[in-house]
This record gives sequence, C-alpha cells and structure tokens, in this order.
Amino acid sequence: MSQILEVLYNKKPCYNIIIENSFIKLSEEIEKLDTINKKICIITDSIVGSLYLEEVLSFLKPICQNVVSFTFQSGEERKNLTTVNNIYRFLIEQKFDRKDMLVALGGGVVGDMTGFAAATYLRGIDYIQIPTSLLAQVDSSIGGKTGVDFEQYKNMVGAFKMPRLVYINVHTLSTLEERQFYNGFAEAMKHGIIKDSMYYEWLISNMYEICDREEDVLEELIFRSCQIKKAVVEKDPLEQGDRALLNFGHTVGHAIEKYKNFTLLHGECVALGCIVSAFISWKKQLLSMDEYYEIRDMFVPFNLPISIEDINIDDIIDITKSDKKMEHGQMKFILLKKLGKAVIDTSVTEDELRAGTEEIIYRDEMD
Ligand code: NAD
Repeated sequence: MSQILEVLYNKKPCYNIIIENSFIKLSEEIEKLDTINKKICIITDSIVGSLYLEEVLSFLKPICQNVVSFTFQSGEERKNLTTVNNIYRFLIEQKFDRKDMLVALGGGVVGDMTGFAAATYLRGIDYIQIPTSLLAQVDSSIGGKTGVDFEQYKNMVGAFKMPRLVYINVHTLSTLEERQFYNGFAEAMKHGIIKDSMYYEWLISNMYEICDREEDVLEELIFRSCQIKKAVVEKDPLEQGDRALLNFGHTVGHAIEKYKNFTLLHGECVALGCIVSAFISWKKQLLSMDEYYEIRDMFVPFNLPISIEDINIDDIIDITKSDKKMEHGQMKFILLKKLGKAVIDTSVTEDELRAGTEEIIYRDEMD
C-alpha cells in the first residue's frame, strides 16, 4: 500500500514524501518534476550502490535524457568537504548546469552530502532524496537540513535546502545490517517520546513485528514518524524555535559520539542522550519516576544501549558545552514535560548534567 505526505514550506506545497515497498513508482514520480531535458546525477555510496544503483538507473533512464552516477566509499568519515569537492568536479566534467538535478540514493550520509552539494553547486540546483537506511527514511531525508562534518566537528558546515521529492522504498530495509536498523529506530522512538505518546505506545506494542522487520508495520512506522517530522519542520523550517525539539537526546548524544570517536552509531548515542535528558526531566520534577524508567528500559528490546563504559564525565560536560547547541553561553536542552511533550530548556545546570551523565555509566551489578 502506498502512502503520500505533502510537505509545506512557508505554508505552500513544497515536496511529497512517497512511501512504497518497491521502486516501481519512481519513474512516474520523478517524471512529474519535468526531467526529460535534464541531466540527473545519482549520488550513492559503495554499499548502497552495489545493491540498488542498477535498479534505480533502470527506472530513471527512460524518463531522462542523461543519467550518470557518482559513488563514494560508504561511511561517516567520507561526509566531508573532500568528497563534496569530488562531487563538484564530477558535475563540472559532466557539464551539469542549474536546471539539472541530483539524486541522493543511500543513508543519511549520502542524503546530507548530496543535499549540501545541491545547495551550493551553481548557487543551488534541485535534488531528490531516495533514503535507504531507517534513519534516513524516518528522519534525515525530510526537512532540508544538509551538510558535512568539518575536522572533528559534526555537521559544522551546511545549508538548508529542501528536496523536490522524497521517495521511500521500505523494501530496501531488508538489506540493512541489524545494528544500522536499530540505529534508525532510535530516532523513531524519539519522535514518539517528544511528540506523540500514542505512537510511542504503538511502537512498544509492535516490538516483535518491528524487530522482525515486517514490511507493513515498518511502512506504518515510517509514515507516522514522517508525519511528526513533517509537522515540526513545517512549523519551523529553519530551526529558529520548535524544530530544536527534534534535538532531544542529541546534546549529550553528540558529545558521546565525539568522545567515542564515532565508534558508536548516531542512534546509539541518541538513545543514551535521551536517557540523560529524561533523567534530568525527572529530577526537575517535570516527568514522573515511572515515566523515566519506562523510557530508559524501552530502548533495551530494540538493542539500543542504556549505559556506557569508559567515559570521563568531565570530558562529556566540556564537549557538551562546546556544542553548537549552546545559546548565549547557556546549554540548550530539550526536556520532557511528560511522555509525548518535549520543551526547550536553558536552565540545566552543570550539576544536573553531571548527575544525568552518571546515570548512564555502566555499573556491574556484582560490584
Ligand atoms: P549512513 O548513511 O552511513 O548509512 C549507514 C550504513 O548503512 C552505511 O554503511 C550505508 O552504506 C549502509 N546502508 C544504507 N542503506 C542500506 C541498505 N538499504 N542496505 C544495506 N546497507 C545500507 O548512516 P545513516 O545512519 O543512514 O545516517 C547517519 C547520518 O545522518 C549522520 O551523518 C547524521 O549526521 C545524519 N543525520 C542527518 C539529519 C538531518 O536532518 N539532515 C538527521 C539525523 C541524522
């Protein structure tokens, strides 16, 4: 069954999110963007390219005069300006001009970097997202946040650039590694926790079907997460206010990600960050103790960590304070008023952050 969501920008229709279980409707959807006289460059990584590039090419070639592809080695460490330079060079060699279009085929790394290349090449050309990881399908492909990492700083250089279309083929999740699958699930869980307690309950009650990757359940999960993300980005497309709610768990999550030198996945760090924020919310008497423990323990069946070894709390605090989420010298935290209702908070003290971080340090119960 196919699902469509229309995303507005400044209250006007901007792009559609199409949720399908194959690539069959891809030609039809892309054709609506008047592609016959355009050149298209599919940008993908080595893993996704080897699995899906040929199939996607077979749907694009009949509807477009000239389709080329650019593949880079998969991995977050390639999400940098060097890869973007290589993309620019390739587009210049292929004589891409402003009416031409890029297609991001892959996870969040491909999507963020293709979007950034599209935002900056010739001061901006169109691009389409074909997200293939769960993280990209429920989160990163929607909302137009693009960018790359710079030196050790994550997503430090970027731009807002809305895609022309997001085409999700849920079936691609069948080839995703287990750890990557749960990595993306953390963002879906976050959506329920910050915005929709009914969705959160639905995720919990469909735990087995989700872990078995039953396609109709995944389709619903992606649809409901996309609805939440769509509502947030429509209200605040350039993150001047409420869009920051999506950063729940990310302030400390990013610090852990950096401290661990990106050996843990983004969603794993977000799960830990969510626990710290939920703990602080409990201690500030915004959330009940039961709600805190429920949130913490519900990451476990989805193979996400709730504690971590070998971290230095002072370092985590220092990194958190140097994060770009600081506002006028104050840490900007997203806390919970209750399950399904997140709020922006700038009153979290260093002691509260320390207590929250201590909560996720691994303790051997035998000690
Ligand atoms: P990723 O793109 O590196 O993909 C993870 C791994 O899975 C890669 O090895 C990739 O090749 C592989 N893969 C992807 N789809 C596959 C499939 N269908 N079958 C088999 N393998 C597949 O990482 P990710 O987790 O998708 O995205 C993480 C990135 O997203 C980070 O850089 C993060 O900063 C960014 N992000 C951006 C936003 C945003 O709003 N723009 C939001 C959240 C995260």
